[in-house]
Amino acid sequence: MPELDSRFSHQQQTGAASAWARAAQAAMMALAAALPVLLCAAFLRYEAARLVRNEAGLVSNFVVNQVVAIAERARNAARVVAPRAAEPCTKLAVALTLGAAMEPYIRTLNIVDGDRLVCSSALGQQALAPHAAMAVNGRLPRGDWLAIVPHTPMVVDRPTLLVGVRAPGARTVVAVVDSQYLLDLLRAAAPLSVYRQADLRVGTGTSLREARDNTPLASSPLVADTRKLFAGSVIDLQLYGEPAHLNDIWGGLLLRYMPWVVAFSALLAWLVHRMQRSRQSRREQLLRAIGAGEFHVEYQPLYGVESGRCEGAEALLRWVRPGIGAVRPDEFIQAAEEDGVIVPLTQHLLKLIARDVMRWGTRPGFHLGINFSPEHLSGEDLLPDVRRFITQIEGRQIQTVLEITERSIMRNTGQARHNLDTLRGEGVQVAIDDFGTGYCALSYLEKFPFDILKIDRGFVLTIDAEGRSAVVLDTIVGLAHSLGARIVAEGLDSQAQFEYLRARGVNYMQGFIYAKPMPADVFSRWYSRAGSEACASPEAHA
Ligand code: C2E
Ligand code: CA
Ligand code: CA
Repeated sequence: MPELDSRFSHQQQTGAASAWARAAQAAMMALAAALPVLLCAAFLRYEAARLVRNEAGLVSNFVVNQVVAIAERARNAARVVAPRAAEPCTKLAVALTLGAAMEPYIRTLNIVDGDRLVCSSALGQQALAPHAAMAVNGRLPRGDWLAIVPHTPMVVDRPTLLVGVRAPGARTVVAVVDSQYLLDLLRAAAPLSVYRQADLRVGTGTSLREARDNTPLASSPLVADTRKLFAGSVIDLQLYGEPAHLNDIWGGLLLRYMPWVVAFSALLAWLVHRMQRSRQSRREQLLRAIGAGEFHVEYQPLYGVESGRCEGAEALLRWVRPGIGAVRPDEFIQAAEEDGVIVPLTQHLLKLIARDVMRWGTRPGFHLGINFSPEHLSGEDLLPDVRRFITQIEGRQIQTVLEITERSIMRNTGQARHNLDTLRGEGVQVAIDDFGTGYCALSYLEKFPFDILKIDRGFVLTIDAEGRSAVVLDTIVGLAHSLGARIVAEGLDSQAQFEYLRARGVNYMQGFIYAKPMPADVFSRWYSRAGSEACASPEAHA
C-alpha cells in the first residue's frame, strides 16, 4: 500500500515469510478439501473388496454344499446296492438300472471287482478295467472315495464325478455323476461376469475349471476358498474375482457416498479457512484487508435545521470480510487503534473518500465529517495526510470536518493542538465527537480548538415522547452555545426528539429519522433526489 508509512515497511521484509505462510495455508486448505475425499475413496475401495469377498464366500459355500449334497445322494444310491455287490451281474443289473434311474444326478451305477468293471447299469455285464472304463489311474482306493475323471469311454467330451463305496469282498460300487450338473451349478452361482475363474476339486483327479480366458490370474485376487471334507475326501472351490466387477461395486459406493463426502470436505475446508483467518493476528488481518480492498465507506447525511435540507455527511468506514460478513465498525476501529493500524487505515479511508466525493454533485460548502483517532491527531502524519486529501478533492468545494474523540489515550496533546490549529488555519473545521460520554470529557473542550460539538446519541435518547425537559442535554446545548460552537445532535430517531432539539437551537441533526448511512453511489442518488430539497422536518425525507 503506497500510503503505509515507514513503520509498516517491515511488512515488505516479512513478505517472503508471509508468502510461505500463505502457501502453507493454501496447502492446509487443499489438504482439508482433498483428505476426506481420498480417505473415503480408499475406504470405499476396501469396502467394495470386502463386499466382493463376502459375496464370494456365500457363493462358494453354497456351491460346495450343493456338491456335498450331490455326492451324498450318489453315495446313498451306491450304498443301497453295496450289500448285494457280490451277486452276479444278471441278478444285479435291474437293481443297478433302477438305482441309477431313480436318483437325480446319477448317470450309471457300476460294480468294480479288484481292477475290473464287472457290472454296469448302462451296459450290463462288463469286463473292462476300471481305469479304461472310468479313466481312474491305477487301482481304485479302498473305502469310500470321490474323484473327477476327465472323461469316460461313453462320455468322452466332458469330465465325470465318480463316487465309490466299498462293498463286501474286493468289490466297489461306483456311482457316475454327470459333471454337467456341477458345471451348471458353477455357472449359475458364480458367473464369469463376476468371477474370473472358478476351480472345483472333488476328491482326487482333475479339477473342474470355469475360466473367462487363459490369461494369467495375476490381477485377479482369490476371493473365496471353501473346503469341506466328505467321506474322507476334500471338496474345494476356489473363486478368483473379476477386477471389472470390483470396480463396478466401488463405483456404485462412490456414487452413493461421494456427494456427502464432497459436501463434508467443502465444510471442512471452509472451517479450516475460518480458523486460519481467525488465527491470523488482527493486525495482519487489517493490513491484508486494506490491500485486498475489503473496506468501503458509507455516508450518513446531516440535516441542516436552518436550510431544511442535507448540509453534509459523516463518512463511516465499513469492513465486509469475504465469507464472514460485515464487522462492526466500533470493533475493528478499536482493534486498529490497539494494534497500531489506525493511521494506515485512516489514510486508506481518505483515499476511498476522495474517490467517492469526486463522483458527487454536492453543493459548495457541503460538510464532510471524517473520524480521526487520537493517535493520528497527535502524530506527524496528520498534516500531510489531510493536505493530500484536500488537494485530491480540490474543486469540489467540500468543507472538511475532522471529528475527534478520546476513545484511546492521546500521547502528545501539544502536537495534536498544533496540528488542529494549523489545519483550522487552512480552512478545515474540527468537531468534538461523542461529547459528554466517557470518551469525551469536558477537558477536551479546553485542550483543543473546535467549531462543532456533536452531542452523543445517549443524551438524545433522554428526550421523552412528551418533550419534557432533559436536564443534562439542555446543559450541554447551553454550554455549546456559550462556547460559540455549532451543534450536531446524533442518533435522532423520532420527531419528538427533532422538535425538542430544534426548539433549543441545535443546528444539524444526524440520525435514522433523516437517513441511514449509505454507500457512496446510493448517497449520491439520494442526495440529488431528496437531500437537496428543503423540507421542514427530517422525517419527511426518511
Ligand atoms: P460515531 O462517530 O459516533 O458514528 C455514528 C454512529 O452512530 C454510526 O455507527 C452510525 O451508524 C450510528 N447512528 C447514526 N444515527 C443513528 C440512529 O439514529 N440510531 C442508531 N442506533 N445509530 C445511529 P457506526 O457506523 O456503527 O460507527 C460506530 C463508531 O465507529 C462511530 O461512531 C465511530 O466512532 C467509529 N467509526 C466509524 N467509522 C470510522 C472511521 O472511519 N474512523 C474512525 N476513527 N472511527 C470510525
Ligand atoms: Ca463521528
Ligand atoms: Ca458520535
